[in-house]
Amino acid sequence: MRDKKIVLSESEMPKQWYNINSDLPKPLDPPLHPQTGKPLSPEDLAPLFPMGLIEQEVSTERFIDIPEQILDIYSMWRPTPLVRAQRLEQYLDTPAKIFFKNESVSPPGSHKPNTAVAQAYYNKVEGIRKLSTETGAGQWGSALAFACNMLGIDLNVFMVRVSYDQKPYRKVMMKVWGADVFASPSELTESGKNILAQDPDSTGSLGIAISEAVEQAVKDEKVHYSLGSVLNHVLLHQTVIGLETKKQMEKAGLYPDILIGCVGGGSNFAGLAFPFVLDKLNGKDIRLIAVEPIACPTLTKGPYAYDYGDTAKMAPIVKMYSLGHDFVPAPIHSGGLRYHGMAPQVSLLHNEKIIEAIALPQNPVFEASVIFAKTEGIIPAPETSHAIKAAIDEALKCKENKEEKTIVFNFSGHGHFDLSSYQNYLEGNLEDYEYPDEKIKEALDKLPKV
Ligand SMILES: *Cc1c(COP(=O)(O)O)cnc(C)c1O
Repeated sequence: MRDKKIVLSESEMPKQWYNINSDLPKPLDPPLHPQTGKPLSPEDLAPLFPMGLIEQEVSTERFIDIPEQILDIYSMWRPTPLVRAQRLEQYLDTPAKIFFKNESVSPPGSHKPNTAVAQAYYNKVEGIRKLSTETGAGQWGSALAFACNMLGIDLNVFMVRVSYDQKPYRKVMMKVWGADVFASPSELTESGKNILAQDPDSTGSLGIAISEAVEQAVKDEKVHYSLGSVLNHVLLHQTVIGLETKKQMEKAGLYPDILIGCVGGGSNFAGLAFPFVLDKLNGKDIRLIAVEPIACPTLTKGPYAYDYGDTAKMAPIVKMYSLGHDFVPAPIHSGGLRYHGMAPQVSLLHNEKIIEAIALPQNPVFEASVIFAKTEGIIPAPETSHAIKAAIDEALKCKENKEEKTIVFNFSGHGHFDLSSYQNYLEGNLEDYEYPDEKIKEALDKLPKV
């Protein structure tokens, strides 16, 4: 039972990020300007992002150096442990080896500070003193609040109304780290006011909150915008997860047969999986599985098409799997995997059949979550539980087929601020809401004509 954690020393922390752009089987379709429909230029992005990040967005260098100051802050919690879930294996009575990469050990409790710290850093070195962003359940907002605090810059967070009201503790966390938090839709922006004029009781959505945060950055040249997932540079920063995992697997004398991550915008999955994609392209037999909720089945049911990144059509139009920029998730669903689109890099790899995707209903996901909490001790974020359920299902297949596979999943975050969802689950109040096919057809009609 002992020695089940594979740890790296601080000196073994990756000093470079891995850039999948260098190895994609074909180039990404260019992002388009939301008003003109023409390919975006770096100048179009300059009101929103620092040049350091814009360069990373389009770079095709395979490895990009991680600046010293970022490594310094990473070392507060990195390298993160890769843990063999032996008690879970025993419970399942499976011959499979199950490992999880524990990203919940960061101060905000998820993988998100891997990019938050990098984004705050590149803004800071270019003289930006304030960022604006959106947050759904509050994980991204709290990660960026932590990062801005470490780097000494200000932060405005537009928090989706339903979470603002239902998840007060993440809001407090952001405030402790010094951020200003507003419920979205808000009266602070034109996009917010427009939505409130149509629907004063709007519970908000990520798409609306993105519009508000982008608008603030566009209107004030001293403010930049920051996005917690989807974009190439975000996925790039997350690759420290997979690069560490590779070293840890080597230490264990193993190579994974299956990698699993939950997907909202795609960043934690990409962070784990991308460093292994090149191996797969070179012929390695490895399955890469992205797991989403049936309430927001972007990869499994959405079309692969150009769509707006946000509801107010201010963010770029990108080629991705999408449920439509007007998508509003069912309030009955608890997880934070609610963005209407999917990272273009993850979308392309799915379209090329290099990665797989599955969609799961939330009650079985919570059941898996509770099994994990009871065996391995940590209470997972509901998003993370999607990966856990998929890992358990794969481990049970191994049992049936008497196969000793190595399964690695990304433990993207803990659920200490999601206990109301657990309460709803335990009291039997969660519904296995499936996003209706008609809605997907409706959304198709509203895709931009490009
Ligand atoms: C934000 C979040 C996710 C989903 O976002 P991705 O960009 O798809 O990783 C998953 N798990 C946790 C814990 C999160 O905070």
